Amino acid sequence: MPHAVAATATAPATLLRLEKLGIAYGRPPRLFYALRDVNLQIDVGEFVCLVGPSGCGKSTLLRLVAGLLAPTEGRVLYRGEPLRGVNPHTAIVFQTFALFPWLTVTENVEVALKARGFPPPARSERAQRLIELVGLAGFEDAYPRELSGGMRQKVGFARALAVEPELLCLDEPFSALDVLSAEALRGELLELWTHRAMPTRAILMVTHNIEEAVELADRIVVMAKDPGRVLTEVRIDLRHPRRRQDTAFQALADHVYAAVAGRTGTEAEVLGTAPGAPGATRKLPGARLEALAGLVEKLAAEGGQADLPRLAAELGMELDDLMPLVEAAERLGLARVEQGDLHLLALGRDYADASIPVRKEILAGRVLRVPLVRWVYETLQRDDDQRIVRSFFVEALRSEFGDKADEQLDLAVDWGRYADLFAYDEDAAELYLEA
Ligand code: ADP
Ligand code: MG
Repeated sequence: MPHAVAATATAPATLLRLEKLGIAYGRPPRLFYALRDVNLQIDVGEFVCLVGPSGCGKSTLLRLVAGLLAPTEGRVLYRGEPLRGVNPHTAIVFQTFALFPWLTVTENVEVALKARGFPPPARSERAQRLIELVGLAGFEDAYPRELSGGMRQKVGFARALAVEPELLCLDEPFSALDVLSAEALRGELLELWTHRAMPTRAILMVTHNIEEAVELADRIVVMAKDPGRVLTEVRIDLRHPRRRQDTAFQALADHVYAAVAGRTGTEAEVLGTAPGAPGATRKLPGARLEALAGLVEKLAAEGGQADLPRLAAELGMELDDLMPLVEAAERLGLARVEQGDLHLLALGRDYADASIPVRKEILAGRVLRVPLVRWVYETLQRDDDQRIVRSFFVEALRSEFGDKADEQLDLAVDWGRYADLFAYDEDAAELYLEA
């Protein structure tokens, strides 16, 4: 359910409205639209996330909302009034917050208050309260260099919250942090928001992390580039706390992934179906998941994009041997092939940055969405002692895969084992569910 206020009988108040908004750089005929014909509305009580490829104008949109940039077309309405100059009701938290290195935590927070004309006693009182709110009590006198990345970002949040923005704008606020700090800080933001611990009435957050958007947002706005525009919106009607393993969560995440990738196909067309179900069962690529780490790390080191033949050469592989691995990376949502280049996707970037146990968890979530693997898993779940002879599965796969049935089952077992879902007992020739 959308946050709080939406429960009342009257329609929620609209905070922000973008009408046919556009911004162009250059001059005709070389006009480049960073954003074009963008319509968007944000109501009181909403947490809205913007997702989309790099360069689609997400940061530009936030700057327009904050009044740091003026549109070339259309208009920004704040509480029904056209915005002129800097928007006094917003504050932005950036990916890496520019803290003043020579100021303490308290002083860094007070700077924002000073800029808005707060007298000194009120300043220090409010700064102290915010430092406690974001969980930095005890670090008031520390300097930025003495803090971890996560703590520095908390100072950034405290500074943005200090001015009590009605609309809080966040530009990839967790993406420069390691996975665990990001998770902790996300939890704290959500806690502040859902418990109304801050006067903020709505949040507009940019993220490249789709799972993060599904975890936090009431609504996800999917953008595309060239020109930057809104493609579609996805409402997330899940109750908090949201669990990434839940089927409903994964279905929504898949839906957003598909929208960002510009795929209009259904999930079944993208992932295939289970054996016997209507539609085609897609073959698993002949790749071991252990080998994915090397590929994804290499791709991340190349800046997230690499030419396939060159990538093969650098990994010391033949292109033909690399392709099944590339297909596995695509199937699991880590990367995508486009015009001969392999591109790292948001999930792939998270995977590359994650520790080994977290990587396993990321892949386990994706592997379970591959219908062939899921079918084996669910068949085992339904069995009394959760052990079934191998030949049962092979026979069932025969009609789809013919003499490749054995090979496909081996791959499914390999993927399932990697994700700690099920395994194969060679002596008994049985598959069994992992505890
Ligand atoms: P995102 O945050 O989605 O990655 P940005 O909003 O940063 O995208 O940028 C959108 C597009 O606008 C990009 O193609 C970028 O190169 C372009 N752009 C941004 N600022 C300027 C500028 N001052 N002059 C020319 N082009 C710009
Ligand atoms: Mg940006």
